[in-house]
Amino acid sequence: MALYVYKFGGTSVGSVERIKAVAEKVKAAHDAGNQIVVVVSAMSGETNRLIALAKEMQAQPTERELDVVISTGEQVTVALLSMALNNIGCAACSYTGGQVKILTDSSHTKARILRIDEHNMRADLDNSKVVVVAGFQGVDEQGNITTLGRGGSDTTAVALAAALTADECHIYTDVDGVYTTDPRVEPKARRLDKITFEEMLEMASQGSKVLQIRSVEFAGKYNVPLRVLSSFTEGAGTLITYEESEVESALISGIAFNRDEAKLTISGVPDRPGIASKILGPIADANIEVDMIIQNIADDATTDFTFTVHRNDYQRAKTALELTCTELAAKKVTGDDGIVKVSIVGVGMRSHAGIANTMFQALAKEGINIRMISTSEIKISVVVDEKYLELAVRTLHAAFKLDQA
Ligand code: ADP
Ligand code: ASP
Ligand code: MG
Repeated sequence: MALYVYKFGGTSVGSVERIKAVAEKVKAAHDAGNQIVVVVSAMSGETNRLIALAKEMQAQPTERELDVVISTGEQVTVALLSMALNNIGCAACSYTGGQVKILTDSSHTKARILRIDEHNMRADLDNSKVVVVAGFQGVDEQGNITTLGRGGSDTTAVALAAALTADECHIYTDVDGVYTTDPRVEPKARRLDKITFEEMLEMASQGSKVLQIRSVEFAGKYNVPLRVLSSFTEGAGTLITYEESEVESALISGIAFNRDEAKLTISGVPDRPGIASKILGPIADANIEVDMIIQNIADDATTDFTFTVHRNDYQRAKTALELTCTELAAKKVTGDDGIVKVSIVGVGMRSHAGIANTMFQALAKEGINIRMISTSEIKISVVVDEKYLELAVRTLHAAFKLDQA
């Protein structure tokens, strides 16, 4: 008997009919003699609707209350799926995050899972029941409802799989696996049979939303066998593997992009020790995450300092930077919230020279201006104007021959 954790995303539970189809799929796996824990998201569009509703009430909703509102989406789908399962003769029981006791820290809207109590789930599984758990939510030490950040149901699933030492965790979604890039942007994208954990982590952190980054981190930490598959079609999907040698090492495995970026520059800053921390200190104090950073020294002993933040944080970061500008007697603050980041990712990059050059040449040929560059061992990212996003992704996909097996 194997234990599987299955996660179904918003589109997969987007209507009563689809929930019924999920129930059939779960029942078949259960009838085959497996123990099944199912994690579900809210119906597609529901979390956005709930956030909009909260914002109608309060422009900057109190985060504790926001979590109470947005966690309701998943509460609906767990109960509906349990009903569907019970209807077709498959005993099931639904649980909210608090009922399982998925204990998190108290960082509302981006909480981290600390501990999971398996007691209730084990008892149900031992009684041949399917356990249906609400994704995306937990509860803190004080009993407050918390949520895990957008896309957080992936993390719930992987965390449950780790806690229960499941044989495999399956993420069922609206694509049949992890592709060389988002197939919505490049229809020639190819499904990968396998991807290394490291590459998946980099793809997710560079904006590929097929898996929430924290779910990949969790999978790596606890070595959870993880697979991404389609809810709607049969197939083996994509396996996230922990052995690099198992994957034929292509130079580049995939292209990720992030539309949520904005960039800010403070120029004419006196060039002296401690300046970087003077600039970024107030940004960190405002709880704003900084992604790329570039500093350039000019001839006149001043420096230009540029960094990127999430687009949602752009205005707040700009305001903080303008204060710093006055304090440091710097020249000016400029910004642009119409940029995107495009990244190529591949472990093969480690052992090959010239990848960056291929990338820059390909973009230049299309007249795409690169605004910022950053690299790590297995990725190269560039910031470009948002109007070039699709063109840049397709150009790089072709330049690295990702459409060819
Ligand atoms: P779910 O609601 O099931 O969690 P998501 O919308 O969060 O689904 O994630 C699936 C989507 O991720 C796909 O529809 C696809 O557009 C997008 N995506 C982005 N990058 C990739 C990629 N490299 N491979 C596959 N899908 C990707
Ligand atoms: N419903 C949540 C969201 O839309 C969590 C998830 O779908 O994973 O972000
Ligand atoms: Mg998702």
